[in-house]
Amino acid sequence: MSTRILDGEAFASQIHRETASRVVALSKRGITPRLVFIRVGEDPASRAYVSRKETRAKEVGLTSETIVLPETITLAQLLAQIDALNADPKVHGILIQSPLPSALPNEQVYARVSPAKDVDGFHPVNFGKLLLGDPTGFLPCTPAGIMEILRLGKIPTRGKHAVVVGRGQIVGRPLAVLLARKSTHADCTVTLAHSSTPNLPSITRQADILIGALGRPLFLTQEHVQPGATVIDVGVNRIPDTSSPRGYRLVGDVDFASVQPVAGAITPNPGGVGPMTIALLLSNTLRAAEDTVS
Ligand code: NAP
Repeated sequence: MSTRILDGEAFASQIHRETASRVVALSKRGITPRLVFIRVGEDPASRAYVSRKETRAKEVGLTSETIVLPETITLAQLLAQIDALNADPKVHGILIQSPLPSALPNEQVYARVSPAKDVDGFHPVNFGKLLLGDPTGFLPCTPAGIMEILRLGKIPTRGKHAVVVGRGQIVGRPLAVLLARKSTHADCTVTLAHSSTPNLPSITRQADILIGALGRPLFLTQEHVQPGATVIDVGVNRIPDTSSPRGYRLVGDVDFASVQPVAGAITPNPGGVGPMTIALLLSNTLRAAEDTVS
């Protein structure tokens, strides 16, 4: 069977081009979208993620800035910083890079970002709008990026059975809602599996579209996949690798070598979901800026 590779880099470039042309149109009206990252502490992975997002933001014409705060920052100081950005009319999007230090209550911090600037789509108001199908909210970037992979990859979705493995708040749960929406590029029958799901392979083998969002390295193998299914790998996991200078390498939740021979279509990892997450972040920021003039 020849397997289609769902090239997230190519789809992301397409979205970046659309974003860039709308940025030009908006700047003719005197507005340049501005995205501010807040990074707390010096976690190397967070530094790399923010730097990649900043590079892409610049490429599409957005302005951005990273505020780096010490690991020892108090909750009150962090909330005051967020309040200042909420009040600044030149800032259209705010992204608080996770993970935050464990001493800080994540929910309270994310909920402080104004819903109108919550371009990550994590605020309870935007989460509620997602559930209600209200298009004025911001969708969380990774699930929205996966829906774009299916749309741009021309993967049929209507009436198909999608199985999402992992019910995390950032990916699995919102993605299940998006896949089940009554809309041209969704309309799936959805199963949301998790760590208490018995006999997981018997469930995942029923999937026309299988999404791995569980954070377990190379967990999904050929035994989990119905021949011809579309397989999307969300996972980003570190596994020890003494041959790498970093001492580890990154792998997904899907064992690509095992699954690729039976899948009808599959995302590479890296180069699948990751670039789409950034593309959707930047298009959300553009929309936040457009909303200030519409
Ligand atoms: P999470 O909040 O920790 O959720 C993991 C989910 O997987 C939980 O629902 C858990 O079940 C389930 N699970 C764990 N082990 C399982 C097993 N053996 N069988 C079935 N289900 C199992 O994780 P997350 O934040 O959603 O992230 C998931 C993965 O996506 C991670 O690797 C993360 O790094 C990656 N990610 C990638 C991007 C990107 O842009 N590419 C963005 C965000 C996240 P329970 O609920 O029962 O515990």
